[in-house]
Amino acid sequence: MSRLRVGRRGSPASRSQMRHRPLVSNPGSAEHSAHVPPTEHPLLPSCNGAPTTGSMIVQVLGCSGSIAAGCRTTSFLLDDDVLIDAGTGVGDMPLDALSRVEHILISHSHLDHILAIGLLADSVMRERSAAGRGPIQVHALPETIAALRTHIFNGVIWPDFTRLPSADKPMLALVPIAVGEVLEINGKRIEVLDASHTVPACGFAVDGGSSGWWVYTGDTGPNPKLWERLSSMRVAHLVIETAFGDDERQLARISRHLCPAALGHELQHLAGTVDVHITHIKPGERAAVMAEIGRLGSPHKIRALEIGDVMRMADEPKRAYG
Ligand SMILES: [Zn+2]
Ligand SMILES: [Zn+2]
Repeated sequence: MSRLRVGRRGSPASRSQMRHRPLVSNPGSAEHSAHVPPTEHPLLPSCNGAPTTGSMIVQVLGCSGSIAAGCRTTSFLLDDDVLIDAGTGVGDMPLDALSRVEHILISHSHLDHILAIGLLADSVMRERSAAGRGPIQVHALPETIAALRTHIFNGVIWPDFTRLPSADKPMLALVPIAVGEVLEINGKRIEVLDASHTVPACGFAVDGGSSGWWVYTGDTGPNPKLWERLSSMRVAHLVIETAFGDDERQLARISRHLCPAALGHELQHLAGTVDVHITHIKPGERAAVMAEIGRLGSPHKIRALEIGDVMRMADEPKRAYG
């Protein structure tokens, strides 16, 4: 048996019960239309969500396709030391939480997923340098690394933190990864998944032990390779994008994103009944997109991801016999 729970930080009830919030069946509710100010979600894993042996938590820092008040772009915090994507949600982390980040996994080069890398490096540089800590490891596909070097850390858009504060003790190290590779990061196993987007892209699957895998698709259009791989994984949580409504399905198709109709086709390849969390909806489109998804009639438990959501994966303690 395993425990696998979803709750929201900042709510005593959620911390004690860690239950699923309502699914997509009620997209017009106040809960679904109102974004919660980030100040209600202190991002302090050491306060109430400190990982214990055999457990792991994923906190949602940002899950919107763009910005507006209450909306942050894609970023997830795995325990307290690994970021998966570095969108604007990173900006809500307190400085001491930022300084604990040792690894950043990047799905692709688009701005909504990378813009906090350089800002984070700037924010924590003094403390990390004073403590003599090594560089933050930024793991990404080679093409993504090339794009970051050419277009971001070029001394024009932003300083080159792969050579600052000094070339021999930089803030950032860019580490190439490949689809299919399994990364071992601070005791966590993370597999790099295929994605199909307008630029080279990937997703990530985090091994939750007996809880199953936490899977994030990254930005992707329809992608048979993803489902082929997931068919041999026990997926506990699937975080999948739906960037556009069905009224913009052509835009979704040419920009290699999903719309609800395309999501429905994709989810037909996912066996069983899985907790599916929708991410990357554009600000203002949430109710409409979730209503369209609700009409798919999918066997999966589909809900819209929200800032502050916490997904916890924990091995059940072994029962002692005799
Ligand atoms: Zn993208
Ligand atoms: Zn994106």
